[in-house]
Amino acid sequence: MIPFLDLKAINQQHRQALIDSATRVIDSGWYVLGQEVKAFEQEFASYCGAQHCVGMANGLDALVLTLRAWKELGKLKEGDEVIVPANTYIASVLAITENRLKPVLVEPDAQSYNLCPQKVRQAITPKTKAIVAVHLYGQLAPMKAIMELADEHALLVLEDSAQAHGATIDGKRAGNWGHASGFSFYPGKNLGALGDAGAMITNDPELAQTVRALGNYGSHKKYENLFQGLNSRLDEMQAALLRVKLQHLNAETLVRKQIAMAYAQGITNPLVSLPIGRNATLLDLENHVFHLFVVRVRQRAAFQAQLKAAGIDTLIHYPIPPHQQQAYNSYNQLSLPLTELIHQEVVSLPIGPAMSMKDVTAVIRSVNAFAA
Ligand SMILES: *Cc1c(COP(=O)(O)O)cnc(C)c1O
Repeated sequence: MIPFLDLKAINQQHRQALIDSATRVIDSGWYVLGQEVKAFEQEFASYCGAQHCVGMANGLDALVLTLRAWKELGKLKEGDEVIVPANTYIASVLAITENRLKPVLVEPDAQSYNLCPQKVRQAITPKTKAIVAVHLYGQLAPMKAIMELADEHALLVLEDSAQAHGATIDGKRAGNWGHASGFSFYPGKNLGALGDAGAMITNDPELAQTVRALGNYGSHKKYENLFQGLNSRLDEMQAALLRVKLQHLNAETLVRKQIAMAYAQGITNPLVSLPIGRNATLLDLENHVFHLFVVRVRQRAAFQAQLKAAGIDTLIHYPIPPHQQQAYNSYNQLSLPLTELIHQEVVSLPIGPAMSMKDVTAVIRSVNAFAA
């Protein structure tokens, strides 16, 4: 069986260093808000090229509390419109509605699945105050154009970089384009902890300080509370494990890109549409870190079944768009044809830093053998 993502194999590659780090935390006697979190925050900020990093309990909280901080700082208020791609993972939308802001779902670009600057421009109204720019599947959204639009209309930009650790445009990494960015370190993400973890990064010191307080009961200073906050902290154990994983992120990303290029060159079945050109080079892939390798197939169910029969696991990211979820029943009547079509056709092939080239070849063979 070729698994979709072999987390055990990924972490086995770093087994001894992970054990050494866990031991260091156990023996330190200090488990929340200590040296490991501080060190990881510095290392991750520096990796992204940003000035501030605040560790959080998970990626969703990083997005929720950044928007909340902008409310506390008077930059957003209840009911403000926030533009977000309609085909994103639901967490991007939850972060908006959790803050009683109004998500404005826009259709993505048909090729990249990311925000399309033209469609964003059309969605801007006098009530629009922010954009959540999601770097879906590991590819940076067109951030230059988005930041130009944001400057023109005085909009805040929050990047959802949960799937795009280390992706760059012109050497500038995900998370360092907007006014702030949320990251997830859920185990299956490109930089994965061994449990839940997340962070926000920004170059705005006041925002960083506010988010930090909001995730620590609303307190900057022990027993003094400025805000009605909550508890969302990165813990020492996950921070120590993430410090190990961060050292290998670039090498692991390179493996993902090599697999993506092998798929692009090897998959010739006309029934399967690829996310990148057949002759893409590593340089072309600067802006994509292949959290997922997503193809489109009209007869998706048959495709998945045939691959399954050949021993290959595939997944769908995502089967139901946010506006068709029961959780958002007031949006169920919306018509977003491109988003709906994408959700009917996308399917993700196995990809990950512990996948062997032999398995990649086997996937290519089965994909090429698919017949409707
Ligand atoms: C994973 C993910 C999140 C949420 O991160 P968690 O750590 O699981 O809370 C948010 N946005 C996107 C696009 C994601 O893929």
